[in-house]
Amino acid sequence: MPIKLVTTAAALRTESARLLIEQHGGSQGLVPTMGALHEGHAQLARTAVEQNDVTVVSIFVNPLQFGEATDLQRYPRTLDADLELLEAEGVDLVFAPDVEEVYPNGEPMVRITSGKLAEKWEGASRPGHFDGALTVVAKLLHFGIPGACGNNGTPPHYRAYFGQKDAQQLTLVQRMVADLNFPVEIVPVPTVRAGDGLALSSRNRFLSGEEREAALVLSRALRLVEERANAHQPLDLDSAVALVESQPLVKLDYFEVVDPATLEPLAENCRETPFRGEGLAIIAARVGPVRLIDNVPLSS
Ligand code: AMP
Repeated sequence: MPIKLVTTAAALRTESARLLIEQHGGSQGLVPTMGALHEGHAQLARTAVEQNDVTVVSIFVNPLQFGEATDLQRYPRTLDADLELLEAEGVDLVFAPDVEEVYPNGEPMVRITSGKLAEKWEGASRPGHFDGALTVVAKLLHFGIPGACGNNGTPPHYRAYFGQKDAQQLTLVQRMVADLNFPVEIVPVPTVRAGDGLALSSRNRFLSGEEREAALVLSRALRLVEERANAHQPLDLDSAVALVESQPLVKLDYFEVVDPATLEPLAENCRETPFRGEGLAIIAARVGPVRLIDNVPLSS
């Protein structure tokens, strides 16, 4: 079936209801994105299409989560190519509202406060970012509520897909949904990388060839730590940090191993003693004009 583009919440509900009834559908998946889609987004869409009767992808560049106006203005917008990619993945509906549709009363007065988990890491260098991101995710999760009853009059199962690439955002979304009882299952999707290891990101297109080459040190350093965890060795984070800092085009912001649930740094001693348990190695750095983030889950 050809993909359908809708731009209003009302049209989204009508079309979602129509498709669910037509297909006797028992489930709907939502994939929230900001567009400029790449293979990472395609993987989210593919997973949603596999697991649901109806799949909706939203494309909305949310002004509320951008600190600098220039970053918002220059965020890439590629709707035609995005629609082509999503159609190829079998997505049913694309919801691409304008700013007035999402914020009809201007900036929302009532917002999500993301709390302690948002104070560190990305939150520390991007003040207000997660409150803005969670506020729009809350709105998108509401816009995407399935528009009809499924088989036997039961509400369709509702899932939403988020990339592990944005680990802190994923953790915060999971907490918001649990803390505020949103009727949706959050499905994490592993990070998709280029062949050379660089995590795919819409912002990678702003890297020069030389900067892109330099940026590979992020995934290399993460892999080093991952290999040590797999081999039950001390993580020796200091040497991995030194590797990143040896690259002059890369300005490291943070590189830590944290508890995946609390995002608190794991005890210092996992630097010297063999790593055991679950962890998440997280890194952020500026490379040329772009701030890059990446992470790997550790399990040993
Ligand atoms: P964005 O359009 O950058 O806001 O991302 C939309 C969704 O795609 C988020 O849930 C991201 O975590 C996810 N995503 C972005 N890049 C990747 C990637 N390389 N692999 C997997 N998921 C990704």
